[in-house]
Amino acid sequence: MNSITVQPPPASASQAPALQKETTVGNYFVSNYPPFSFWKTESVGEFAAALERPPAPATPLGVYLHIPFCRKRCHFCYFRVYTDKDSAAIRSYIDAAIRELTYYSQKPFIGGRKPSFVYFGGGTPSYLSVDQLRHLTDSMKRLLPWDEVEEVTFEAEPGTLTDHKLKALREMGVTRLSLGVENFDDHILEINGRAHLSKEIARAYSYAREIGFPQINIDLIAGMVEETDANWKECVRKTIEMSPDSVTVYQMEIPYNTTIYKQMKAEGKLVAPVADWETKRGWVRYAFNEFEKAGYTVSTAYTVVKSKEKTQFLYRDRLWAGADLLGLGVASFGHIGGTHYQNLHDFDPYVQALASGGSGVYRALTPTADERLLREFILQLKTGSVSADYFTQKFGVDPRVRFAQGLATLGGWGFAEVAGDTIRLNRDGLLQVDRLLHEFFLPEHMNVRYA
Ligand code: SF4
Repeated sequence: MNSITVQPPPASASQAPALQKETTVGNYFVSNYPPFSFWKTESVGEFAAALERPPAPATPLGVYLHIPFCRKRCHFCYFRVYTDKDSAAIRSYIDAAIRELTYYSQKPFIGGRKPSFVYFGGGTPSYLSVDQLRHLTDSMKRLLPWDEVEEVTFEAEPGTLTDHKLKALREMGVTRLSLGVENFDDHILEINGRAHLSKEIARAYSYAREIGFPQINIDLIAGMVEETDANWKECVRKTIEMSPDSVTVYQMEIPYNTTIYKQMKAEGKLVAPVADWETKRGWVRYAFNEFEKAGYTVSTAYTVVKSKEKTQFLYRDRLWAGADLLGLGVASFGHIGGTHYQNLHDFDPYVQALASGGSGVYRALTPTADERLLREFILQLKTGSVSADYFTQKFGVDPRVRFAQGLATLGGWGFAEVAGDTIRLNRDGLLQVDRLLHEFFLPEHMNVRYA
């Protein structure tokens, strides 16, 4: 385990609260707002009503499909994944997702729109065979054609990618291949429960490059079990050497439903056996500096891109600007006509609900106008800078006034500044943005468990 160091506060941050040092159990990452624990089964009717309304003018439509299968469960994984499903179960799952899309494709909220972005997340989408993927994507395209799609993202685990599968993915229209590399050291991959080995990364990457995916992203995690300074530097060096179009770096968090937490609980431990937060932030800071030296630009708290003009993340940017997202699959999240919804959490109930002509939706929430503003504001703050004018135009509210208190707090801590139209986080602020976002939450949403 790494030693625990206390972060010296920035010079102007004398009032900043003590930073959490050790990595303890809980969700750090803020992916949506209001927190999921406020989404309720009683509100599913609001989602059904949203499906019957035409879309607001100029609202883009995206599709997200969760593929919940993996070869092994990583010890830090908190996603809904299954490692024991045979091909018949996988087929029933694909059919359920297609049924779900069939139902939605006939609803008024579509309003003649075609998706502008599609995202296959997981789990491990690349766990599916080429035949399964063709059946799935052909059916999706028949229901909602992809001829206006600008971006198709596909998450992949390197060990599942054969040349044949990579070629098929390219033919299906995948534009961004996102490789879950996480680390390049076989020992670290193994003790964290990853299924792939480093040689599979190199093989998959080089063939993916050869056949011309427009964008290849590499995912890294700062702070896996047994990570060291030397290992992290080597991971950054190797990534730069590969020269991907973008790199996403996450700081390891240990939510409740991870194998690591179960072990901590069994051993009566409160502190996770991974680096403390300051060390992880230091590793991301180092990575960002090295990537910048190599010509990359930091585009969010987690992402660097080789070319800001050419390398876009439409899925992220449109979602953070209030696009409609049709979330398909077990435990998926979506957002339609101003209402959030989430599907059933477990495989069998989800598949059975769809097989019997029912809905897979389990809970929903319609945020107020202020909550919608707040949601976009905090999500966009993850890019490090937001335009006040965007919010004034869209919501009729100036965020510099609406969020004056939170901005003053972050300013006092030395993390944020308002310069004319722009609200900006500095690098220190960006590296801990998820914990800072809570300063903008409504009082009833503070200090709640996020899931
Ligand atoms: S590959 Fe991803 S989704 Fe699958 S078990 Fe590992 S972390 Fe979870």
